[in-house]
Amino acid sequence: MDDIRVMTWNLHGSARPRLDAVADLIREHDPDVIALQEVRKAQARRVAALLGWRGPEGITLSGFVEPFDTWADMSHLLAEESWPGPTSPTSPRALSYFCSVLPGTGAPPDRADTGYPARRREEVRQTAIRFLERDVHHLWPNAAHPKAGFRWERLAVADGPDAAGPARFASQFWTANVNPSDRYTLSLPGTAKSRISPLDNTYDNLILAGDWTACGLVAGCVEAAVISGRLAAHALAQSPPLRDIVGFDHP
Ligand SMILES: Cc1cc2nc3c(=O)[nH]c(=O)nc-3n(C[C@H](O)[C@H](O)[C@H](O)COP(=O)(O)OP(=O)(O)OC[C@H]3O[C@@H](n4cnc5c(N)ncnc54)[C@H](O)[C@@H]3O)c2cc1C
Repeated sequence: MDDIRVMTWNLHGSARPRLDAVADLIREHDPDVIALQEVRKAQARRVAALLGWRGPEGITLSGFVEPFDTWADMSHLLAEESWPGPTSPTSPRALSYFCSVLPGTGAPPDRADTGYPARRREEVRQTAIRFLERDVHHLWPNAAHPKAGFRWERLAVADGPDAAGPARFASQFWTANVNPSDRYTLSLPGTAKSRISPLDNTYDNLILAGDWTACGLVAGCVEAAVISGRLAAHALAQSPPLRDIVGFDHP
């Protein structure tokens, strides 16, 4: 991998730094990644714009408190949804995804236990409500108060009765991934040998693809999924040639 230049800078945003000078200095150091601390959202946006950022303004934050330690601002997707329009008071102004690892419960549930998915879903609902009431004020100080809790009226309600309090959570989307095929394939020690290659031709008319296959990268990531998909294409149609599949057996 090439070297990456990382720059970190505590802007002391409350001291109102000159953002054009900040951008000039960052440009001078030419980092690949810049991490700003004590920066206000509007300041970060301005610095990004001064540095030439033209992409979406979304935020992804990971490493927050569990059970929802990852927050992604997906507000750019609102335009794809069927809300009345950005000027309507009922339309949401922001769309946020929260996710985390859903802890297992030891042994897989018995097949006869048909209530298991609903129980896990209810568990996620309850932890999400607790998260909004207890933790989210660190991220969204205007939506919640450390003592008074979450301001439930801030949640958009798509249709149905305009409920109050935590009942408004019913309007949100939440899920508990309990089906084995929805769960993450971990790269645990000693498991790599059990992975099957997309080039495996043990069975006629069966070719596997996915980040969990033996594709050269033993990790659950998009790169592994792409390499695996390209290997599967090669197995099917001899295209692309193996020498063009970067990451398979050569960098
Ligand atoms: C929370 C989370 C965060 C992640 N963050 C990152 C990240 O930051 N960077 C990164 O590189 N990777 C990340 N990953 C990993 C990345 O998402 C996966 O490696 C990648 O999506 C795997 O692609 P895939 O095509 O192999 O499988 P998938 O994207 O899982 O696609 C498999 C598809 O098959 C469907 N399916 C399953 N069973 C059936 C069936 N019986 N019939 C029909 N369809 C079926 C599923 O619904 C799914 O759509 C993350 C994953 C998760 C869960």
